Amino acid sequence: MSKIQMNTPLVEMDGDEMTRILWKMIKDELLLPYIDLKTEYYDLGLENRNNTDDQVTVDSANATLKYGVAVKCATITPNAARVEEYKLKEMWKSPNGTIRAILDGTVFRAPILVKGIVPYVSNWTKPITIARHAYGDVYKNVEIKVPGKGKAELVFTGEDGQEIRETIHNFDGPGIIQGIHNTRKSIESFARACFGYAVSTKQDIWFATKDTISKKYDHTFKDIFQEIYDAEFKAEFEKLGIEYFYTLIDDAVARVIRSEGGFIWACKNYDGDVMSDMVATAYGDLSMMTSVLVSPSGVYEYEAAHGTVQRHYYKYLKGEETSTNSVATIFAWTGALRKRGELDGISELVTFADKLEQACIKTIEDGKMTKSLSLISTCENPTILDSLGFIKAIRETLDSLLG
Ligand code: NAP
Ligand code: MG
Repeated sequence: MSKIQMNTPLVEMDGDEMTRILWKMIKDELLLPYIDLKTEYYDLGLENRNNTDDQVTVDSANATLKYGVAVKCATITPNAARVEEYKLKEMWKSPNGTIRAILDGTVFRAPILVKGIVPYVSNWTKPITIARHAYGDVYKNVEIKVPGKGKAELVFTGEDGQEIRETIHNFDGPGIIQGIHNTRKSIESFARACFGYAVSTKQDIWFATKDTISKKYDHTFKDIFQEIYDAEFKAEFEKLGIEYFYTLIDDAVARVIRSEGGFIWACKNYDGDVMSDMVATAYGDLSMMTSVLVSPSGVYEYEAAHGTVQRHYYKYLKGEETSTNSVATIFAWTGALRKRGELDGISELVTFADKLEQACIKTIEDGKMTKSLSLISTCENPTILDSLGFIKAIRETLDSLLG
């Protein structure tokens, strides 16, 4: 069989620890035998980030803007312990944060569903994708602990000297105040990324805020979404037969639980933080969550939602057996390859991505899986495989699917 050819390179961002080990296994077993893989390689492993003063992270994000599609391995976000462990020059920032800032992107997270791993919400038969706005609100707040009696005011001073002043509260004793903000530009980018992703995945999109209570702040989110939808996306949505649906956040929560899934739920920053953990847990397992960063200009960066699985890596280093689930990392590759195939009109690449995803799902449904999946699967007598054994089992399924 001749290998599938590519035109444009994928931006490949290598990473750390156990996921770096899986990365190489996935390439060797599941990609290189089938594809004449073209990538522009960036080593985001912590050692190389440290050697390059983190320039490699910036370069990889700029390459993503240039080529349009990236695939990323999980990376360590340094803390004090990591500075010591890797003898770092400084506590480098989170690569995901750096990349997100350069791409101005929104993160979409979706679960991979397989038979035998039953969501806690039994009517969720299709994935729910959460889109979280990643700027502002309570994450960029200013807080004061009010010591006692006094008046709290909200003041805006324009560059032209204009002043807007509102009383927050007349305190007759100690209390607390919080100031939060967002920008029109960031909300617009969020809206465009959401609508663009809905079009690209042909799914309905829901958005919800508390606009009945927050008549200026939350209402502005609602208004901006509606304006951008009407002006830029309505016609395309109607052509595809997909829907934009706005409702109050309380109503959204109730409807989500009663739904069968199969849509994108766009969330403000805090709602997305809380709801993505709830939805991920309800679907079963963090190692079965995919994540894609989408910029408003239509640039895509695919990755697994989980981290570098440090505990497994230390076992691996000691020569002990590991059973780490590579499915979300494989889906990062298939997501990127499919998108590259769509953009370049290479249907073999799209078909290959589909088949590789089917192979992952079928392997698990046939009872071959890693340890953490076996613990939550309803499959009787599953075969528990080690990290490489599981990838080899997927390769066998893939070969049978490719005929
Ligand atoms: P983690 O790597 O997601 O792992 C947490 C635990 O979840 C693991 O110890 C393991 O449980 C289980 N797990 C996660 N993925 C798994 C998989 N594929 N297969 C089997 N089990 C899996 O999170 P963490 O330990 O909090 O973080 C480790 C490092 O990852 C940190 O340095 C953090 O900065 C980084 N991180 C990176 C990203 C990213 O690049 N996107 C995201 C999150 C965290 P058991 O040990 O019980 O088996
Ligand atoms: Mg959270």
